[in-house]
Formats: sequence, C-alpha cells, structure tokens
Amino acid sequence: MKSGREQSAYESPRETIKEPQLKVFAVVNQKGGVGKTTTAVNLAACLAAMRRRVLLIDLDAQGNATMGCGVNKAALTESVYDVLVLDQGLQDVMVDGAGGLKVIGANADLTGAEIGLLDLEDREYRLKLALSRAKDEFDYVVIDCPPALNLLTINALTAATSLIIPMQCEYYALEGLSALVETIKRVVAHLNPSLQIEGIVRTMFDPRNSLTKDVSEQLQQHFGEKLYRTVIPRNVRLAEAPSHGLPIVAYDPTSSGAKAYLALAGELVRRELDAASVMDRGAQDAVS
Ligand code: ATP
Ligand code: MG
Repeated sequence: MKSGREQSAYESPRETIKEPQLKVFAVVNQKGGVGKTTTAVNLAACLAAMRRRVLLIDLDAQGNATMGCGVNKAALTESVYDVLVLDQGLQDVMVDGAGGLKVIGANADLTGAEIGLLDLEDREYRLKLALSRAKDEFDYVVIDCPPALNLLTINALTAATSLIIPMQCEYYALEGLSALVETIKRVVAHLNPSLQIEGIVRTMFDPRNSLTKDVSEQLQQHFGEKLYRTVIPRNVRLAEAPSHGLPIVAYDPTSSGAKAYLALAGELVRRELDAASVMDRGAQDAVS
C-alpha cells in the first residue's frame, strides 16, 4: 500500500491535468460603460466559434448581454433571478442565444435579487452552487457583471475561476481600481481562495488619444503579464451589433472589432495551453 505522500507524488498531478476543468470567467469592473457587456458577449461568442461549449450568464438587471445575443429580455419566463433566489437549475432556465451560446438571461426582475438573497444563508454562494451542478456541460462560463460591487458581483467573484477586467485607457481609468482590487482580496480571503485575475483587456482603444499610451504603461506596471497584448479598438460595428441581437462575429466578421475579439479569445486560449504545459512539465518532473 502506498503512503499518502507517494500517492500525491505519483497520482495527483496527472489527475489534476486530466480532469476537464470548467473555466468560469467573471467580466468585472464596477466602473460603468467600460465595455464589460461588449467583452462578455463577444468573447463568449468567439470561444463558441472556436467550438467550445459556452454558457453566458447575464448578472445585470439592464439585461444588455441578454439582448446582445438575441434573447428578448422582456419575454423571458425565467431568468438568472430564478437561479439565484429560487434555486432553479441552470438547465431549466437556459435558452439558446445567437452564435451558438447558451444563455441565462436577466431583466428588471434582478433588481429584487439583492433583497431576496439577503435572507439566504449561503447568499454569496448561490451562483457557485448552481454552476457546480452543471459543470460537465460546458467548457467556459462567461459572467457579465453589473457596474457595482454588490451581492450579485460577489456571487460572480465567488463562482469564478478567474476575472477578466475591461479597462478604458482614459484619465479616470485607474480610479476605482483599488476598490476592485480590495474586493478581490476580500473574496480570496473569505469566499474563493483560488480566484485569480485572468487578464486585463484594454477596450475602446484609440492610439491617437495621448492618454492611451500613459494609461497603458501604468496598466503594464500594475499588472505585468496579466495585461492582454490584444487591444479592442473603438469600432462602431461593435456598438451596432447589439441592436441586431448579434455578437460581432455574426454581425460583421470582417470588422476590426470582430478581429480583435477573435484575437483576444485566441490569446486567452493560448495562455491556458501554455499554463497547462507548464503544469504538465511539473507533473513529469514529479514522477521522474
Ligand atoms: P455598464 O457598466 O453599464 O454595464 P459596460 O461596462 O457593460 O456598461 P458596454 O455596455 O459594453 O459597457 O459598453 C458601453 C457602450 O460603449 C455601449 O454602447 C457599447 O456599444 C459601446 N462600446 C463598447 N465597446 C466598444 C468599442 N470597442 N467600440 C465602440 N463602442 C463600444
Ligand atoms: Mg454592462
């Protein structure tokens, strides 16, 4: 019989690699209008275009991500509210969205969710619990967060494996970042110890704006390799696509916006593969 020590040296690294791990990305920034929803919808759709199984969860009562992938928020019979507050299974609530996405939609009902959640003992874990019951059905879950550090966002941070933070390279971009970083630290300390920052993405990027370079440099200093090389340019097609209920890859696949989000999805997947190969080498070292 092997000792526990031997077992972990020989078996657990390989097991860690083999087990298909659901990646849950929360797209978060409490600052309004920085491109969270545009990034959540289009990154999700690009991952789906790369033949990954993707679930998009709208956690914002504005319902913009829901509408952005062609689901009519006003006609939803069940929404993310039912998952969070009424314990409905994801399967019963999810609907088909454009671009091959499965969608858990949101609408104005969600404004009552914070109060509904307050009475529940496991209020920070409601989304995590729901996802744990559906973890084999998807490769990626992308969560669009509201522009607030409220209980809905806390549910997203608790359920997430990692965070994607869209930032606009403008004067006030870094203001408020410390509140976000503090919240992330508190979530790591109390609710989700393995939470990581997946990456920082620069949105509505305009190289002609003189501030863009300064803010980019500051982001590079703060976040180093976490800053994606891919930048999302300001592109009117990205702003038009939601009114057609389509992600940019379906609305205008040749636009600069579509190319940028495809490149972002590619960079994200490549980073994952690189990280997995580092783990794989670690596992090889452990067994040799
Ligand atoms: P909120 O905080 O209200 O949820 P948000 O962070 O989700 O906002 P978005 O809704 O994605 O931000 O974007 C804000 C506005 O900017 C929208 O009208 C959107 O269409 C537009 N927009 C986002 N990204 C781009 C881009 N790269 N080029 C042009 N317009 C963009
Ligand atoms: Mg939004």
